Amino acid sequence: MRSIWLQENKWKDIETYLQKKKTIIVPFGSVEQHSAHLPLGTDSFVAKRLAEDAGKLTNTLVAPQSWVGWAPHHMAYPGTITLRPETLTALVEDICQSLIYHGFEKIIIINGHREANLPPIKIATARLRNTTGAFLPIVDPFYFNFEKGKELRQSEPGGIGHAEEMESSHMFFLYPELCDPSKVAKNIPEKHRFFQHDPFVEGDRILNSSDVYTYKEDTKGIGIMGDATDASSLIGEQYHKKFLENLVELIDYCENEVIVNLRNRNIPL
Ligand SMILES: [Zn+2]
Repeated sequence: MRSIWLQENKWKDIETYLQKKKTIIVPFGSVEQHSAHLPLGTDSFVAKRLAEDAGKLTNTLVAPQSWVGWAPHHMAYPGTITLRPETLTALVEDICQSLIYHGFEKIIIINGHREANLPPIKIATARLRNTTGAFLPIVDPFYFNFEKGKELRQSEPGGIGHAEEMESSHMFFLYPELCDPSKVAKNIPEKHRFFQHDPFVEGDRILNSSDVYTYKEDTKGIGIMGDATDASSLIGEQYHKKFLENLVELIDYCENEVIVNLRNRNIPL
C-alpha cells in the first residue's frame, strides 16, 4: 500500500490489502457556513483529518472524501452547498456498496457534519447492513469522543452547538491557516428547556429541525450557535488525540472482533 488514500493506490495494491484486511474508513462532511472565524469546509476538513490520521496510525485504507452533505438551514448564509437528503443517502449507499462488492466487510463512516447528516446516512447504512451483512459503524463527534469533549469544554451550558468552542478548538489545532480566531463570537439564546442544543447538557428535549427562514435570526446574523470565545488550539489538540485513540480502538475492534459474512454483493445500478 503506497498511501492510506484509496485513490492514490493501484488496483493491485487494493487486491493485496483485501487479502489481509477488510476494514476501510469513509469520511463524509458538509460545505456550510461556520460563522466568521471558521471555513465553510470545516465539517469535511475535520472528517478528512480524523480519517487520514487514524488511517496512518493503523495502516487502514481511507476512501475518497465526500465534501458536501445535507445542510438546508445553512443556506441562510452564502457559500453553503446542500444535497437533497435522498442524494446523500444514495451517495453513501453507492460508495459503500462498491466497496462491499470488492470484499470490504467493515466500513467505518466518519460524519463530520455532526448530527445533521445522520438521518440520510442511517437510512443508507440500515439498508446496506440488511442487504449485505456488512458492518457499518457511524462515527459522529456528537456521540463519539463524548467523554473527552465533556471533560474539556469550558463554556457554560448551551455553549456547544455550531461553530462553537469544541469545533473551533479542533479547527484551530488542525487547520490554523484557515481560521481567524480574532472573529470568535458567542450566541447562547434564551430558549425553552425542550430546545436545548448542547449535547453535554442533560434533560428532556424535543427534536426540532432548523429552517432557512429563522436560522439567520437564531444565529444572530453571524452563523454561530454556542460560545467560541474559550476555543484554543491546546483544547483542540487534546480533543483530537483522544478522538484518534478511540478511532484506533474501533478499527481494532472491527478487524479482530466483528465477524461478517457478506451476501448480495451487487454493483450499484
Ligand atoms: Zn460544523
